[in-house]
Amino acid sequence: MITVVIPVYNNAGSVEELAQRLSSTLAAFAYEIIFVDDGSIDNSREKLRELAENNKHIRLVFFSRNFGQHPAICAGFEYSRGDQVVLMDADLQDRPEDIPLLLAELRGGVDVVYTLKRVAKTGLSNRITSIIYHYIFSKIVRVPVPTNIGTFRALTKKFKIALLRYRERNILYGPLMFYMGFNSKFVEVAHDLRPSGRSSYSFSKRFALAVNSLISYTDIPHRLSLYFGGTLVLGSLIYGIAITTQYVVLGRGLPAGITLLLLIMIMIFGSVMISLGIIGSYLFRVYQEVLNRPRYLVAEQINIESNFDGANNGI
Ligand code: UDP
Ligand code: MG
Repeated sequence: MITVVIPVYNNAGSVEELAQRLSSTLAAFAYEIIFVDDGSIDNSREKLRELAENNKHIRLVFFSRNFGQHPAICAGFEYSRGDQVVLMDADLQDRPEDIPLLLAELRGGVDVVYTLKRVAKTGLSNRITSIIYHYIFSKIVRVPVPTNIGTFRALTKKFKIALLRYRERNILYGPLMFYMGFNSKFVEVAHDLRPSGRSSYSFSKRFALAVNSLISYTDIPHRLSLYFGGTLVLGSLIYGIAITTQYVVLGRGLPAGITLLLLIMIMIFGSVMISLGIIGSYLFRVYQEVLNRPRYLVAEQINIESNFDGANNGI
């Protein structure tokens, strides 16, 4: 059985066509389509209800509010029953017709298949943030991450179970999958222009996401501030010894220079502020993990037999 997991957030314009194209592509397989509605405020839910009414392969999970794309993906994986799981966006940029291609790779013994977008035009700022982000991230996880990688992916049940063992609250599936290893493969697919609606990610949301994933995968910023602070302290120590020696041994006067003093003070204050910021961001994450809040809350589920507040409810 194949499960297709699709997070939905204000995709009323595309879910109908998506479901229709998925059903015709997957007709030859045993399949289920899980739409996880992440608190849409358009009429996505009504559209989905109608679809699920007419097609029992379509299963719906409605969140109690907007929790974000990654909690929605998490829910989709947790509810999925397939031996092979496909993850895709709801906005029709990923083509349902490419799914058999990915599944064929899985059958060839690969655990996870990533897609590379043969790109339709994205905005310049998105492209730049994406390139910078992927470059830094590749350095951190020490696996080259292609810049045009998509969320459209296929994974085996084995991989999915491994993925669900990561219980951190602040989860980001994109980077996490790379971090996990296993046999993987890249497949190039076309990435269509968005047929309706707008991207739900603004530049600032994307930027926040990038910072977030960099912080959760590395202590580099922390170490950098440590090195920077250390260098400053060491430098000022050497400087201090030098002028003291000059003063005591050579009998020279102390250097005039309130400017110099100010500069040094500003630098030191700056480095302290930076370190505090970095410590703060880690502390904030630790705090969130300690709270151990559910990743999502389900308000309603349709065509799903398991208990409403059962094992799947966001634990
Ligand atoms: N999404 C979501 N919750 C959010 C934002 C987005 O579930 O808060 C889903 C959205 O429905 C879509 C996917 O995440 O299926 C990717 O979003 P979008 O297509 O807007 O992003 P982009 O294509 O610009 O990366
Ligand atoms: Mg999209």
